[in-house]
Parts: sequence; structure tokens; C-alpha cells
Amino acid sequence: MDSTSHAARTLLSQIGRDIAGSRFAVAFTGAGISTESGLPDYRGPSGLWKNRRFEALANIEAFKDDPVEFWEFYAHRLAVLADAEPNAAHRALESMYRAGLIKGVITQNVDGLHRREVFGDGLAELHGSLRTGVCLDCESEFESAEVEARIAEADDGVPRCNCGYPIKPGVVLFGELLPGEQVERAQTQTFEADYMLCLGSSLSVIPAAFLPATVLDNGGRVAIINQGPTDYDDEPGVIKVEASLAEAMPIVAADAERGVGA
Ligand code: ZN
Repeated sequence: MDSTSHAARTLLSQIGRDIAGSRFAVAFTGAGISTESGLPDYRGPSGLWKNRRFEALANIEAFKDDPVEFWEFYAHRLAVLADAEPNAAHRALESMYRAGLIKGVITQNVDGLHRREVFGDGLAELHGSLRTGVCLDCESEFESAEVEARIAEADDGVPRCNCGYPIKPGVVLFGELLPGEQVERAQTQTFEADYMLCLGSSLSVIPAAFLPATVLDNGGRVAIINQGPTDYDDEPGVIKVEASLAEAMPIVAADAERGVGA
């Protein structure tokens, strides 16, 4: 906790108390919350894998045209994910959700570190989840462990459905639409929200960029904890804290939990 300055701590406590005093607080999260779990941000400035751009790798056309090369990248991602665990920031959100202090989590992340078994319908995964796989032909769904088993069995490294088609990771690839049900859930939460806590996102990617604006337009408040600038830093009334999320979020959660009924 030493690297979190006194000024930052004061703001984090304020955020915790504001959450406790809110009617319907929601969290919005981006890649920054998972980098401290050791997951690379492929969309970030160093977003290359074997010198190939993320946009070219994570693409529906790449999946259709060359499933072998496509799955080389995704098998790597699943292997990295297998060792990743929710960090202190993920756990602080779980604790606040269980306590009823936040009512939902909207995420752009596909790593599954916001655990479905904790959040249930309170979780909106805008870009889907790597923890699942789907067959575009017969619509069968698979857990990631099953996908990994099929990767291991395959001569060419491509996991296949029982119907013979390559399995697609349950994530939104470039060239695909966002999942309607998840988007609807995110919109419902956002319209209901009088407080939005934005974590680990530059808030510059559409549609995520619209969510805090909606809350502000509806008279709600927005707080941001991120390392680096965001598109909302200069918005009036927005609290912005530059801090490590794994250090900051336990402080927010502790003050939110203390603030109940205060
Ligand atoms: Zn199938």
C-alpha cells in the first residue's frame, strides 16, 4: 500500500463513502484491472504477439481463413489464463457485490476473472468470455477446459466440435457484433446507476466510452481509478485517482463497507 499517496488515499476513501451512500452503484472494468493478475493487455501499446497485431489475430476472418494460426494464438491465451487468478481488485469488487454495495459489474475483459459464480446476472461481459467456446455451425457450447482438451487431442491444434467444425472462443472477435443480451444488461445497469466506478480503462473505446456519459447525463456521479489518462479526466464532478487497482480497491471496499448505514 506504500505507493498509494496520502492524497490518493483520501480520494479512495471518499469513493468508498460515496458508494455506500449511493442507491445503485455499478462498476465498469477494462484491461487495467487484470494486468496485475499477470495478463497482458493486447490492445495496449505493446499489443503485439509474435509481431502480429491483435486486430489481425483476434479477427473473425482470421478464424475462418486460417484456424490453425488463429488457434495458435488462442491456445497461448488459454494457457496464460489457466494460471491467472482474481487479484485484490477483483476480490474487492466481489466483496462489495456480496454486501450489496455495488449492484453490477460491466466489463470489457474476456478473462473471466470477474467470476460468474459470484456475480451471476449482475455481470455483463460486453466482449464475451475466453472461459467458453462455441460452434458457429451447430451452436454447441463448451467450457474452456473442454476446449483445451480438444486442442491437446488435435493434430493441427484446432479444437473441433462433435459436428466437425472448429470451435470459436466465446469472445467477440473483430468483425463480430457484441452479444445482445450482455449489451442489454449493461445498458439496463447503466440507466439505473446513480454511481459508476470505472476501473482500468481509458474509457476511449466505443461503446464503453458512452457508459459514464450516460450516468453523468442522468445526474449520477462517476469515479475513475486508472493508471494513465482517460477521456473523462477533465469532466466536471468526476473523481479521478491514479493508482494501482490491486492497492486502491481494498481501500475503497473497506471504506464502503464501513460507510454502510453511516
Ligand atoms: Zn458443431
